[in-house]
Amino acid sequence: MSDLIAGIDLGTTNSEIAVYRDGGIQVVEKEGEMIMPSYTGLSPQGELLVGTPAKNQYVLYPELTVKSIKRKMGTSERVKLGEKDFAPQEISAMILRALKERAEYAVGEKIGKAIITVPAHFSDPQRQATREAGEIAGFQVLRIINEPTAASLAYDLDHEMDQTILVYDLGGGTFDVSLIQIQKGVIEVLASHGDNNLGGDDFDQKILHWLLERFRNETGVDISEDRRCVNRLLHAAEEAKKRLSFEPFTFIREDHLAEKDGLALHLNVELSRGDFEKMIFEYLDKTLDSIHQALNDAGKAPDEISQILLVGGSTRIPAVMELIINLTGVIPRQDIHPDLCVALGAGVLASREMGVKEDKILVDVTPFTFGIETLEFIDGYPVSDRFSPVIYRNTPLPASRTQLYSTVDDGQDAVAIKIYQGEDDVASNNLLIGDFLVQGLRNVPAGNQILVRMDLDLDGILHVSATEKQTGLSKKITIRDSFTQMDKEQRSLARHRLDSMFQSPEKEQEETFSYHAMPDESSADSSLRTRIISARALVEKSQRLVPSMNSEDRSEAETLNHEILEAIEEQDMETIREKVETLADLLFYVDDNQ
Ligand code: AMP
Repeated sequence: MSDLIAGIDLGTTNSEIAVYRDGGIQVVEKEGEMIMPSYTGLSPQGELLVGTPAKNQYVLYPELTVKSIKRKMGTSERVKLGEKDFAPQEISAMILRALKERAEYAVGEKIGKAIITVPAHFSDPQRQATREAGEIAGFQVLRIINEPTAASLAYDLDHEMDQTILVYDLGGGTFDVSLIQIQKGVIEVLASHGDNNLGGDDFDQKILHWLLERFRNETGVDISEDRRCVNRLLHAAEEAKKRLSFEPFTFIREDHLAEKDGLALHLNVELSRGDFEKMIFEYLDKTLDSIHQALNDAGKAPDEISQILLVGGSTRIPAVMELIINLTGVIPRQDIHPDLCVALGAGVLASREMGVKEDKILVDVTPFTFGIETLEFIDGYPVSDRFSPVIYRNTPLPASRTQLYSTVDDGQDAVAIKIYQGEDDVASNNLLIGDFLVQGLRNVPAGNQILVRMDLDLDGILHVSATEKQTGLSKKITIRDSFTQMDKEQRSLARHRLDSMFQSPEKEQEETFSYHAMPDESSADSSLRTRIISARALVEKSQRLVPSMNSEDRSEAETLNHEILEAIEEQDMETIREKVETLADLLFYVDDNQ
């Protein structure tokens, strides 16, 4: 037997195993899948199924399948599987054994020792049951560690620096938020809160019920009692939910779900990210309550949080990130795959136990944000030259994401796509890396939907396409060297522009501008910044229009431009507000007369 030690995330919905090999810690995959559903079952022929095959048969044969066994760990309840019944440890051991075999096959040797993670709130009996499950599976269990602690190890945080970390873990079936403190290299869980019955499965159910209702309304046929149909729709719902994390809307198509008067009935619907987020808002809101609770329990205020780590597959939903930023003002990290993070952290600890010094986790993320220039309405005023991110900095690679935009003019027959790399929310302060024009759009009122898709691979090759949603009219380009950084001169130019916008000390500027994709609208800094940007943009527009104005308007516009720039210098918010209003009225009138 080798000295290899495995790190295992034994999750309610999914489980993973990580080992040290090829100079780094890796989650072991099987047939391209790193995640193994935490399902066990017996096929109708009596064969033991673990992982995906067991999950696939769940809706058809629930009596032959066990899911979410983690919820029963530490209890004396017996679980029926076919004719026999088992202790929860035995069912968990089947999952652990399947993971063990998968890892042994990958490394070509036996693995005898393991470190297994558990939620921070697990009681002693639950921890003990987990240890026993590991032993039944054939491991010597060296340690049982808390999942948030594992997450912090995966992130390789600076353990010499004292800090408070919030770990937000939203998986398939459970939600946990933990506050951990790193002090003099020691990691301690200060408080942990959550809901054992909240997660991605609930979101799938919401979509499922919406689909069943749509089908009933459109066909008059109720298929909610048909297990096979429900199974198909549940799968479709989960897939649609995942696509909506990267695309603004998605289609759900399932053929031949039922028959009526001898005709096959199909389902074909479109679901937008906005509508999906409305469906799950009540759940996400509950997670925010837990954050408050955990902060209260630990006696900490939101501004004492140094970092937030996102863990669990459901944190890929963009609204999760947005809500957390709004609540805390901190931009969470998710640069380690959220569903592998806990297993990787257990792997880090395992490698340390093995005496390995180099315990780097091998993940590739994009070092920059990529987006396009848009026109945005700020405080009711149109502001041009805004940067709209499509793929955010630190997204694991390869990455694909599509965003929906709309035309702003009636009858607009072309859109110019300007692609930028950078972090500033004024587009031209970033690095322009490519542009193209889509021409021949339909002659329709403003609001024609344009999809912009970006695909970024490990080598920094970026494919960008823009497609008119209704017609499919499309144009694309490939940018080969998208990871090339701004050269020195461009960086100094960008810094200079920022400096000229703010008179505050350099440190503050860096913080204010470190990441603008989702500014915290509630902070005073942010609204000041937004107002100044919007005021400057209006002055720029006015300066462009001045040559075409009559002499009276021109002189009024020039005076207002001057007064606004002066007020910006003095940060006189009242005057900025007042003069911007007058200038906007004037420009509106001038625009109308042209
Ligand atoms: P975990 O328990 O951490 O493995 O998380 C599993 C949950 O994450 C399941 O409900 C998945 O459907 C969900 N999930 C995985 N990927 C995504 C995604 N891209 N967007 C939204 N949910 C996801």
